[in-house]
Amino acid sequence: HAKSSGRNSYKFYTADLNARAREILAIESQLRFALERNEFILHYQPQVAMADGRITGAEALIRWNHPSLGILGPARFIEVAEERGFIVQIGNWVIREACRQLALWHDQGLPKMSLAINLSALQFRQQDLAEVLEKALSSHGLSADMLDVEVTESVIMEDVTSTLQAIDTIKGMGLQLSIDDFGTGYSSLSYLKRFKADKLKIDRSFVRDIPNDLDDSAIARAIINMAKNLNMQVVAEGVETIDQWHFLKQEGCDLIQGYLLAKPMPPEEFAGLLAKGTLLPGE
Ligand code: C2E
Ligand code: MG
Ligand code: MG
Ligand code: MG
Repeated sequence: HAKSSGRNSYKFYTADLNARAREILAIESQLRFALERNEFILHYQPQVAMADGRITGAEALIRWNHPSLGILGPARFIEVAEERGFIVQIGNWVIREACRQLALWHDQGLPKMSLAINLSALQFRQQDLAEVLEKALSSHGLSADMLDVEVTESVIMEDVTSTLQAIDTIKGMGLQLSIDDFGTGYSSLSYLKRFKADKLKIDRSFVRDIPNDLDDSAIARAIINMAKNLNMQVVAEGVETIDQWHFLKQEGCDLIQGYLLAKPMPPEEFAGLLAKGTLLPGE
């Protein structure tokens, strides 16, 4: 305990705690108004085919333009939103906004691609999730396979029965399914054969130190081979260097997503990228 570890550390501890507590307070007190004030935005990060650099899709990533704290990433508020019971409403907004934006790009004649969205555990337990997805797709004239739902292993493990049920429904509707942050969290490989995911996303932590770290390289290679044998596309997340790119290409990774190609960006900027249609390292 901080109190027993001496006067100074106690002071620092309370100072830190106060700063964090103040931030949480600023976040909690404003979060309930954020939706009606239209303060959320989606940024988009391209997913690119390693074979030819084609932009085959993008991941939508939420940001909050907080009235006093500025633009906040999801790590700063998603947990609070889950604890305070706002996440389902926010998540439903993400679904609608992603569909609206994707349809707009299609209408503008930009190349067709799919859009991936992240769902929280609570959304998979939401009774009307299928209805929300169906309504968002149909009201924007999108076919179901344009939307790609990302689920993490930890979300599956949190409530296996209801998550797998929701996944069956989503797959049955024709949406794409991706397993996010693969290889992290407590998980079991058995769910990989329980349902057919379209994509497996290798977590950034395994990508970071390839090709120099031989263990990480072996793990990345094993995940790529496993995904291929199970007829899934494999996506490497967090690709930042050309050496990682070369390694992943040589090992047969299908798609990459990372700062090497592009950071998540506002929709206007993404439209420019999509108009070009391809993205290769060094461009
Ligand atoms: P994620 O789904 O695994 O998303 C990938 C994260 O990695 C994003 O962080 C992205 O900006 C970051 N990233 C991509 N490429 C690189 C790279 O080359 N280097 C580094 N260092 N990072 C990279 P972001 O946007 O901060 O999102 C963090 C997490 O928040 C996401 O992880 C996802 O779990 C969650 N999240 C984002 N948007 C939503 C949302 O709309 N709803 C829910 N429930 N969760 C969301
Ligand atoms: Mg994701
Ligand atoms: Mg991820
Ligand atoms: Mg993550």
